Amino acid sequence: MHNEPILKIAIQKSGRLSEDSIALLKECGIELRNVKDRLRTVSDNFPIEVFFLRDDDIPEYVEDGVADLGIVGQNVLAEKNRNVQTIEALGFGKCRLSIALPKTVAYEGASTLEGKRIATSYPVIVAGYLKKNNINATVHEISGSVEIAPGIGLADAVVDLVSSGGTLFMNGLKEAEVLLESQAVLISNNQLNKHQQTILEKLLFRIRAVKKAKKNKYVLMNAPNEKLSEIISLLPGMKSPSVLPLAESGWSSVHSVLSEDEFWEKIEQLKKAGAEGILVVPIEKMIL
Ligand code: ATP
Ligand code: ZN
Repeated sequence: MHNEPILKIAIQKSGRLSEDSIALLKECGIELRNVKDRLRTVSDNFPIEVFFLRDDDIPEYVEDGVADLGIVGQNVLAEKNRNVQTIEALGFGKCRLSIALPKTVAYEGASTLEGKRIATSYPVIVAGYLKKNNINATVHEISGSVEIAPGIGLADAVVDLVSSGGTLFMNGLKEAEVLLESQAVLISNNQLNKHQQTILEKLLFRIRAVKKAKKNKYVLMNAPNEKLSEIISLLPGMKSPSVLPLAESGWSSVHSVLSEDEFWEKIEQLKKAGAEGILVVPIEKMIL
């Protein structure tokens, strides 16, 4: 009874990807016990075992097959250069890896870095960038708080992760060039067996349903019947919107699904077209 196939997934133990990684598994209906302890844990209702690791170690463990799957930032993947497969972008942990300079220094492209000292936790990516642009610069590898390096005279520039830019700003730096856009991705070992592949497909099916649902909203509204055709023409829906008669004659209730990117624009158009009492409801799962 212990030889049933199981997939081992490595996620970040504590940091910016941890909560979202655990939440994603939960939204996929995978129950995990003792996630608070952040040790190994096996699910009771899905053939998966979770390992909690430092994010930097995840690509290596997945390559070696210690874990079959992992959730890690594309920034770490690019730096570690391991032989793993990217299966799916997960839509969280979004950030960019950028060159930043003191505010007072003008940036005129890669050549600005010639002969300079660059502090970073991403020496491989930085070395690749310098080589590609034919620039000679000294790379100082620092494992944390890279953004303080210029202020204390340790470097002339940094290459670091940025999301809002607030940390750079507080340290007198400005973002000069984006080297890489990143988000969390699901990665896998290249040699999953048939059983593991089947479990992965099941997991992926659920992840996609969760992702899709997050991008869409369920919308309900009341519409006077004479405006129905105009309102329906504005709505996509999975097939077409549902239209139900209201108790009050001459009125209908219209239900549909709207995607995030067109959401506000559509709501305005619907109001203009005569829709009233518009309700917007989050969708938990969406299976097409
Ligand atoms: P660990 O102890 O696991 O090595 P860490 O300190 O390297 O943790 P975190 O700061 O928790 O890492 O970031 C983990 C990942 O979160 C990053 O590699 C990146 O993919 C993502 N991330 C998203 N936004 C940001 C941000 N603003 N700054 C840093 N990382 C971010
Ligand atoms: Zn790390």
